[in-house]
Amino acid sequence: MITGAESALVVNNNAAAVLLALDTLARGKEAIISRSQLVEIGGSFRMPDVMARSGALLVEVGTTNKTYLTDYSNAITERTGLLLKVHQSNFKIVGFTETVGLKDLVSLGKERNIPVVYDLGSGALIDPERFGLPHEPTVQESIKAGVDIVTFSTDKLLGGPQGGIIAGKKKWVDLLKKNPLTRALRVGKLTIAALEATLRLYLDEELAVKKNPVLAMMFAPLEIIEERCKKLISKITPEAKALMNISTVEGLSEMGGGSLPGEGIPTKRISLLPERINADELATRLRGNTPPIFARIEQDRVLLDMRTVYDNEVDTIAVALENICSS
Ligand SMILES: *Cc1c(COP(=O)(O)O)cnc(C)c1O
Repeated sequence: MITGAESALVVNNNAAAVLLALDTLARGKEAIISRSQLVEIGGSFRMPDVMARSGALLVEVGTTNKTYLTDYSNAITERTGLLLKVHQSNFKIVGFTETVGLKDLVSLGKERNIPVVYDLGSGALIDPERFGLPHEPTVQESIKAGVDIVTFSTDKLLGGPQGGIIAGKKKWVDLLKKNPLTRALRVGKLTIAALEATLRLYLDEELAVKKNPVLAMMFAPLEIIEERCKKLISKITPEAKALMNISTVEGLSEMGGGSLPGEGIPTKRISLLPERINADELATRLRGNTPPIFARIEQDRVLLDMRTVYDNEVDTIAVALENICSS
């Protein structure tokens, strides 16, 4: 209902989703992929290795920077099992580039009667562009483009528990469900409960943006973050203020552990420049606090990105600083 897909299946993570799709549709057959999309996600998820594991024969087309639709169509044979597109979710190729859009790939797949699988990875259900951030392809957009199967993580931009969703045409999803691997890759009750709660919020996007911690942090307006900075500064005791130089500074929030490469989001940070101890020592003491407070260090200043601090945690930080300064 949220994605607009005919059918869907939940597995352990997106790696499992990709493996299952390849194993079902391209085992012993060829899977065509652009050379620019043979990505490594990390944690030893490397597209060529996953393809090898699934028994799909990798057919690379195009070049690192340019791939055309004709590269795909020329590579199609009677052994072709699927056309695979992988979202370059953790790196960027810029400059003299050419990629084939999903719609064009879908048209080619339809014409030649070959399923198109899109490994979207990040799993955005709300385009960050709506909040002034860079565009990220959404699941709904992929379904609308007519893709046969799209796979994505439920713990990246979706903001849910670890999991992977396979969504798309019923005909193909049903085929995946029948694969014996599906039982090995299926999720437990706890994941289903958490994922259901996460997805229910998306029925009302405004609610999702307010209540989902990932979305709330990612889409928090700068004014709210600045307000939080002011609140923290006003709560720090004069004794602590006498021992460190405290100010609000601009900065960039790094999003998504690599899911949005090079797309820092402007933020406001609290800069702490202690006088008696160095920044490393202050950061260590903050981590030793109960609860631990993790900060960044830049140019011998301790920085707290207030985007990732809840309003009800501001007091905790003020108290921690007071304790550190009085010890
Ligand atoms: C993150 C990602 C994966 C792996 O997903 P997990 O849910 O971490 O297993 C696979 N492909 C792409 C494109 C990704 O971004």
